[in-house]
Amino acid sequence: MTTTTEKLQELDRQHHFHPFTDQGDLNKKGTRIISKADGVYLWDTDGHKMLDGMAGLWCVAVGYGRDELVEAARQQMSELPYYNSFFQCTTPPAIKLAEKLAEVAPDHVNNVFFTGSGSESNDTVLRLVRHYWAVQGQPEKSVIISRKNAYHGSTVAGASLGGMGYMHKQGGLPIPGIEHIDQPYWFEEGGDLTPEEFGLQRAQLLEEKILELGVEKVAAFIGEPLQGAGGVIIPPSTYWPEIQRICDKYGILLIADEVICGFGRTGNWFGSDTFGIKPDFMPIAKGLSSGYLPIGGVMFSDRVAEVLKNEAGEINHGYTYSGHPAAAAVALKNLEIIQDEKLVERVAEDTGPYLQDRWQELLDHPLVGETRGVGLVCALELVKDKTTRERLAPDGKAGGLCRDFCTSNGLVMRATGDIMLISPPLTITRDEIDELIEKAKKSLDDTLKAIE
Ligand code: PLP
Repeated sequence: MTTTTEKLQELDRQHHFHPFTDQGDLNKKGTRIISKADGVYLWDTDGHKMLDGMAGLWCVAVGYGRDELVEAARQQMSELPYYNSFFQCTTPPAIKLAEKLAEVAPDHVNNVFFTGSGSESNDTVLRLVRHYWAVQGQPEKSVIISRKNAYHGSTVAGASLGGMGYMHKQGGLPIPGIEHIDQPYWFEEGGDLTPEEFGLQRAQLLEEKILELGVEKVAAFIGEPLQGAGGVIIPPSTYWPEIQRICDKYGILLIADEVICGFGRTGNWFGSDTFGIKPDFMPIAKGLSSGYLPIGGVMFSDRVAEVLKNEAGEINHGYTYSGHPAAAAVALKNLEIIQDEKLVERVAEDTGPYLQDRWQELLDHPLVGETRGVGLVCALELVKDKTTRERLAPDGKAGGLCRDFCTSNGLVMRATGDIMLISPPLTITRDEIDELIEKAKKSLDDTLKAIE
C-alpha cells in the first residue's frame, strides 16, 4: 500500500527541484515532509514529532502557531493585500514597521529600505554602498571586503559577498570588486595562539587588505557579528573592536549582516549590540517576521541617510515586494510580540544563560572538542582527539550521522561539516532546553557507536 508520504515523495521527485540539496541523494531517500508545527515542535507527514532546534532556518523567533500573526496577515490582506512603495507611494504597515525598526535598532540607525529576503538585502547593500561613494565623487571607491566562509545569501551579489568556496564554484562567482580575508575561526585555524591573539591577528588582515588595495578603492567591510551558516563561529573578544578601529581609521563603511543575529538571538536586539559594533548598514530578515511571511530590509545609519536621502537623487533600485503590506503587518506584530513578551530580556537573563550552561555539559562527551555559544545560538565541534583538535575522517561524515540520529531521536539539529548547530525559537522554555540537551546527548552516543 502506498502511504500519503510516499505519494507526496514521488510527486516531489518528479517536479520539485530543491535548494541546497543533492537531487540524486533525494531521489534515493525521499524528502521528509513537514506538515504541522506548534510552539517549538514540528511534525512530519508520518506523525514523527521533533523539537525544532533550528527555528526553521534560524528564523521562527516567536515559535510556531502564533494566531496573532495569522490575524495580522488576515486583516491586512482583507483591507489591502498589496501595494508598492515605488514612485512616492507606500502603505501604512510599511511606515509603521519602519518606525518600529528605528525604535529597536541602535540609536544612530533610523532608516530602512525594505526587501523580500536576506539575499536581496545584501544585493541592495552592495548597490547602496557603491552609490553612497559615487554620489560623493568617489565612484572608484567600490571594493567590499568580506571574509572566507561568510554567508550572505544565494543571489549573485549575496553569494559573491559570501565566502563559501563551494558556492563560488557554481555560476561563475564571485563578481568583481569583492575581496575575502581569513575568518576569525579559532578552533580550526588558531593553532597555538590564544583566542585573543588570534582574533587581533585576523582583524588586522583587514588593515593589510585596505593598504594593499589602496584606501581610495575600498568602500566597505561586511561581516556577520557571528558567522551563522559557516558554523556559529563566535569571534574572539579582540576581533570586533579592532575591525571597528580600522573601519573608523580609514573611514570605510561597516556592514553588520544581522540576518541571523537580529531580533534577540544573541540576547540583545542586534548582534551589533552584543559585540559592540557601530554599523553603517545592517541587512536584516528572518527574525524580522519570524518567517511567517517573507520580508527583509537594509537599515542604515544617520551618516549614510544624510547622503542617500539628501544628496543621492533617485535610487534606481527596488523590488515589487519592497515593504509588502501583509508581510510588513506581520513583521510589525512579530516585533510587538518580542517586546510584549520581553523575549530579548528572557534570552539575555534566563533561557540564554541556562542553555549555555547545559550546552557546555556536552563537552564531556568523547566526540566533542569544543562547545560554544551566545544567547540562544550554539555549536559544538565533533573531533577524533579533544586535545589536539584532530578531525574525524572523512570530513563531514560524523556530522551527517549525528544530524540523522538527532532527527530520528526527535530533534532538528543542523550539521555544517562536523560542526553541529542549534538556534531554537526564542520562546523555548527551560524544560524544552532540557529535552533538547537529552536528545543531543543520545544522538552523540548513537554517533559514537556508529563510527567506532
Ligand atoms: N545573511 C545571513 C547572515 C544569512 O544567514 C542568510 C541566510 O541564512 C542570508 C543573509 C540570506 O538570507 P535569505 O535566505 O533570506 O536570502
